[in-house]
Amino acid sequence: MIPFSLPFIDKDVVNEVNDCLLNTGWLTSGPKVIEFECEIKKYTQAKSVVCVNSWTSGAMLMLRWFGVGPGDEVIIPSYTYAATAMCILNIGAQPIMVDVRDDFTIDPEKLDGAITDKTKVIIPVDIGGLPCDYKSINEIVKLEPVRKLFRPNSLKQEKLKRILVLSDAAHSIGGTYRGEMVGKLTDSTVFSFHSVKNITTGEGGAVCLNLPQSFDCQEEYKHLKSLSLNGQNKSAFEKSKPGSWRYDIIDQGLKVNMPDICAAIGLSQIRVYKSSLLPERKNIFKYYNNFFNDFNWAITPTSKNQTCESSYHLYMLRLDGVTEIQRDQIIDKISSMGVGVNVHYLPLPMLTLFKKLGFDLREHPISSELFKNEITLPVYNGLSEKNLHKVCQSVVDAYDVIISNKI
Ligand SMILES: *Cc1c(COP(=O)(O)O)cnc(C)c1O
Repeated sequence: MIPFSLPFIDKDVVNEVNDCLLNTGWLTSGPKVIEFECEIKKYTQAKSVVCVNSWTSGAMLMLRWFGVGPGDEVIIPSYTYAATAMCILNIGAQPIMVDVRDDFTIDPEKLDGAITDKTKVIIPVDIGGLPCDYKSINEIVKLEPVRKLFRPNSLKQEKLKRILVLSDAAHSIGGTYRGEMVGKLTDSTVFSFHSVKNITTGEGGAVCLNLPQSFDCQEEYKHLKSLSLNGQNKSAFEKSKPGSWRYDIIDQGLKVNMPDICAAIGLSQIRVYKSSLLPERKNIFKYYNNFFNDFNWAITPTSKNQTCESSYHLYMLRLDGVTEIQRDQIIDKISSMGVGVNVHYLPLPMLTLFKKLGFDLREHPISSELFKNEITLPVYNGLSEKNLHKVCQSVVDAYDVIISNKI
């Protein structure tokens, strides 16, 4: 069996975790988290980085920080994982969905019709690791008529004076856009370190800040840190220093801090991410591209163009002319050959909760079309060339059986 995904665990990861267990004696947020935050900051060039226990909680933290709540609207693409909408619902605000382009990223041209005087945030999603059209998105929120529509109702909103751009970069750590790293492309960027992502901490996430000059990102870092610790102004680690016991609760926070035991895993991975883990993923994409370029029914995913380069997270292959039923049959066939594949994603309006909330797939024709014939192939560190070949062959064999009635 070739699994769809596997976390990267080598000797260095084990040693780093052991160091946490045996030497530092610190399991919750402490020295490893601080070091991991520094590594992410150094790699992405973000102004500051706060580690949290998931993407979802990091996004909720940022929405809270910006003062988003009931009565507010947040714009997201319809083609994404449910968490992108859940962080909005769970702070009591309203998600507004817009359709995507044929590279799966949010269509900036659709934003105009979606922005209202209730819009507080836009959450573009770097699907599969491909950065969105951030030049257009960042320009739109700064347009005079769009600024005029903005109704600030928190201190941070009054300071920013416009819609906040909060990137869902759950997939895209290491991606680049116009020569800059994901993490410093928008006001705020949230990474996920869930087990299936490019870098993992088991469960985890990080919030990167890249706010305009009017904000002191070091001060905002401190504020977010305390918001992630029930609003407490000092972590247990800071309190553990002699004479530092006294604390205060300065705000109504969440409890979403990352434990050191988790940070240790990610810390070891990020040290070799640029030099080996990311290039290996890129080579897997190359292998698949080379193979599938010979088949006219295969639509290979965009991973690089003049403006951006992906983090090579998901290989989202599409099968031209294939119906949804045939795609499902092809997946069953591939699975029966011992290869793990997936579909990314069911567009949100196809899911029960969002249907109940009134979202309608017919308003998202591109998402609907992209979903029908999509199959995501395995991409992870340690996937051998022999197994890559097996994956490719299983897709071709399944296609031949289901579509061409060959074999
Ligand atoms: C994985 C994922 C998330 C959620 O990440 P968690 O760390 O599990 O909360 C959000 N958005 C996208 C696009 C994802 O793939």
